[in-house]
Amino acid sequence: MTFKAEYIWIDGTEPTAKLRSKTRVLADGAELPIWGFDGSSTNQADGHSSDLVLKPVFTCPDPIRGGDNVLVMCEVLNIDMTPHSSNTRALLTEVAERYADQDPWFGIEQEYTFFKEGRPLGFPIGGFPAPQGGYYCGVGADEVFGRDIVEKHLDLCLEAGLKISGINAEVMPGQWEFQVGAAGPVEVADHLWVARWLLYRVAEDFGIAATLDPKPAKGDWNGAGAHTNFSTKAMREGYDAIIAACEALGEGDKPLEHVKQYGHGIEDRLTGHHETAPWNKYSYGVSDRGASVRIPWQVEVDKKGYIEDRRPNANVDPYVVTRLLVDTCCTALEKAGLV
Ligand code: ADP
Ligand code: MN
Ligand code: MN
Ligand code: MN
Repeated sequence: MTFKAEYIWIDGTEPTAKLRSKTRVLADGAELPIWGFDGSSTNQADGHSSDLVLKPVFTCPDPIRGGDNVLVMCEVLNIDMTPHSSNTRALLTEVAERYADQDPWFGIEQEYTFFKEGRPLGFPIGGFPAPQGGYYCGVGADEVFGRDIVEKHLDLCLEAGLKISGINAEVMPGQWEFQVGAAGPVEVADHLWVARWLLYRVAEDFGIAATLDPKPAKGDWNGAGAHTNFSTKAMREGYDAIIAACEALGEGDKPLEHVKQYGHGIEDRLTGHHETAPWNKYSYGVSDRGASVRIPWQVEVDKKGYIEDRRPNANVDPYVVTRLLVDTCCTALEKAGLV
């Protein structure tokens, strides 16, 4: 007997990478082998030396095919087994290992938008729906578009064993969110990439495209972000570490270094309107949804907990945002003697 392994990887498309996948049929009980692909078809290699390597790094049950079939998240390597330049996971694992003793956790809120026939689901042909106001966490056929796909996606993520922790309808029609975490940096990012793959895959069956475009509708409509909630052991135990992390993110060149890697098109989303802070002006505050970084009110009451970096775009690479937050904040906490 055999089973099917769906090998999933991140390609080299600029400015925003895409997911790719292909199927390998394996004998029952077989180990997942290293595999290869044509990098010249994924913006990862030239035609004359096109072979690249897929290295399985995270496996879970395939909830679409069921049975013994699996989904296999892969890193892309060169044929000498060094990480390919598009391989952001390899960079993260190094940093995550260095700061493992601080036990960083992440919860990522993935916003996205359904599109059908070239416009957001729920937008009428050649016009606009009623202005924002009733859609966020709404109910009813006049407020909510695509719930059948969203429910199916949630079930698939749960069957796959992903750490999905909730879903909600968002501020613009056809716009939704799911949350992954809390979990460590590598785990949350692996799970989020597979959850994205499942989202595209299940929407395909409904003839609908899901997009992580950070500003899918121009004008007075909210963009789509990936708020990244973050804590370390010290932050979960005391308020000094919470403030130190917020301050560290505002030091010197840090705001620009982060924002530049928080997803293509970030200037169009972080305008200072629609619950965002301007991309070029760092701020943090308690309960402040107009700040770059929010300290939730409960965290201020408890004097411990986590912070929310509200800047990452929906199209951010979770391997990158988790690496930057661990690097910046854990380095600062260590320097301040707060670990
Ligand atoms: P919001 O109120 O901003 O919409 P959500 O409820 O959508 O927040 O998401 C909050 C996320 O933060 C969840 O994924 C949750 O698991 C995560 N989270 C909760 N506590 C922590 C923590 N201590 N460290 C990191 N992430 C956390
Ligand atoms: Mn949320
Ligand atoms: Mn949201
Ligand atoms: Mn949020």
